[in-house]
Amino acid sequence: MTEEKTAAKLRQEELFLKKENGYDKMDETSLAAMDGYCEGYKQFLNDAKTEREAVKAAISLAEKEGFVPFRRGMDLKAGDRIYVSNRGKALMLAVIGARPLDEGINVGAAHIDSPRLDLKPCPLFEDGGFSLLKTHYYGGIRKYQWLSVPLELRGTVIRGDGVPVEVSLGGEPGDPFLVIPDLLPHLAGAQSEKPLGKAVDPEALNLFLGSQPYPDTEVSDRLKLAALDLLNRKYGITEKDFLSAELCAVPAYPACDVGLDRSMIGAYGQDDRVCGYAALKGLFDARTPEKTAVCVLADKEEIGSMGVGGMQSQAFDTFIDDLCGCLGAHLRTCFENSFCLSADVNAGYDPNFADVYDKRNSCFINQGITLCKYTGSRGKSGASDASAEAMGHIRGILDRADVLWNVSELGKIEAGGGGTVALHMANRNIDTVDAGVPVLGMHAPFEVTGKLDCYMMYLAMKAVYGS
Ligand code: MN
Ligand code: MN
Repeated sequence: MTEEKTAAKLRQEELFLKKENGYDKMDETSLAAMDGYCEGYKQFLNDAKTEREAVKAAISLAEKEGFVPFRRGMDLKAGDRIYVSNRGKALMLAVIGARPLDEGINVGAAHIDSPRLDLKPCPLFEDGGFSLLKTHYYGGIRKYQWLSVPLELRGTVIRGDGVPVEVSLGGEPGDPFLVIPDLLPHLAGAQSEKPLGKAVDPEALNLFLGSQPYPDTEVSDRLKLAALDLLNRKYGITEKDFLSAELCAVPAYPACDVGLDRSMIGAYGQDDRVCGYAALKGLFDARTPEKTAVCVLADKEEIGSMGVGGMQSQAFDTFIDDLCGCLGAHLRTCFENSFCLSADVNAGYDPNFADVYDKRNSCFINQGITLCKYTGSRGKSGASDASAEAMGHIRGILDRADVLWNVSELGKIEAGGGGTVALHMANRNIDTVDAGVPVLGMHAPFEVTGKLDCYMMYLAMKAVYGS
């Protein structure tokens, strides 16, 4: 009797796809490595609250690892480590491999932009005793989540004289924060009757900048003047300079551990810096990979991957074409034989909102990275839908490297949907698979990930590049 059960159990182990908690497979050494990795990741999150800051932080890390700026036509050989900053808002790095580029490259592509509140081109006004800044949200935010949250102002202004000015209000210890106060419950009767998506008017997402008027009772607009006076003294800017600026409000608090057991990380902007950091760190471990390993940290994914820094931009093709030029290969042949892991987060199963998930096709925290054959919405609309062969390729790589992984879709069919940069890579004739870290509260000002999954994402990227 016992023997029969054992046989069935063995048969089950042989045949079933297991959805297991990864902690059962982690020894002391890997747990320590995971913790060390996550400390570095949290620091990266604190240093990189915008795509510009992410590029700066990534370059600073890469240069310590021996990466040098790429120059068109430079002599390249296996093991060389190079990078190109695309206008300071996106980054491409490569470790040259031993094999010819015509045999293809291995790409890790993540995005470093995150949902936030951008300032409008004419943002500053005064009303009700306050100076305020009008915002235009960037990416898919749930507007109510951004109220009564401490915010910082970050970005770059190109002044009238052409001089760039870095703005980081809230970035230094002791700095003041900005906020958009929420409506008090006592007066929220009518608002509470509205559908959640309509409850907050996007034109009412105005940042409170100040309340002390300019000390001269003879002039009008004294609050606006006082605010501009302070901005001018601190940054040398005038109202016109908002036109040539990229300023945004981002959450003011640093990344932290979540849970009594500290097994999770809570922070702003983990979509998709959690994969961006993994794609970067994984590349650092590539010494002389067989095929050239390329890491792309793209901008503008949250608004459709458009523009010069987005994954639809020719900047990527130009960079790889330049490498092909240096090493005597053809771009199209290279792409045809290449593989890309589109590294982006997925919707981790949340028991509080169970009804939007198909539990049998969801990713769960602490099961490792999640492989996603297709994203999109409804009938896979907008998905590049990786082939069985591409899925077979990636699972082989991950299994050989002992990376913990599972499989999922983004929620129930017709519950919503979403996309990544995968289709733009696939459109280049590069076999592309989506994989990433499960996130809870995605696009909220405070997103939650599992440390084990963050670490597995790094191991996955490392395995994709090869060493
Ligand atoms: Mn994303
Ligand atoms: Mn996103």
